[in-house]
Amino acid sequence: MKKAVFPGSFDPITLGHFDIINRALPLFDEIVVAIGINADKKYMFSLEERMNFIKKTFKGEPKITVTTYKGLTVDYCKTIDADFILRGLRNPADFEFEKAIAIANRKLSGIETVFLLTSAETSYISSSIVRDIMRNNGDASILVPNSVLES
Ligand code: ADP
Repeated sequence: MKKAVFPGSFDPITLGHFDIINRALPLFDEIVVAIGINADKKYMFSLEERMNFIKKTFKGEPKITVTTYKGLTVDYCKTIDADFILRGLRNPADFEFEKAIAIANRKLSGIETVFLLTSAETSYISSSIVRDIMRNNGDASILVPNSVLES
């Protein structure tokens, strides 16, 4: 069984994440969308809100589960028997950052990171842009799934 973990902050989930997850569905039997808990980081949305946005977005999709984890992503992958990490790439900065982590993760654990290139339509979207727009009462409807707008 091919099981992948898609780790991230998802503060909040965007149409960029949504696109990556949907395009990864045919590649895996199960995708675990895993929200990493980092006590040092400040979030706009609570952990519960972030989980609920993702759960609502993928309601009825049996291959997707939503969880949270603490500590190293590779340790979490081992705990749940996942052999793959899924990540999205938007630009060269993402590539450089992700490359080092993916190599370290493979050396540490043998876990392979699978990268999907962002779609042209969603390549500019980031959770930080969404947070800025929402904080200032702007319209984020072209950037996020409906579940986030209903909050
Ligand atoms: P993190 O804090 O781990 O970067 P994010 O929630 O910001 O968490 O992102 C999770 C994953 O989704 C990362 O691999 C990121 O590159 C990817 N991602 C975010 N936005 C997009 C997008 N617009 N297109 C493709 N991938 C994206």
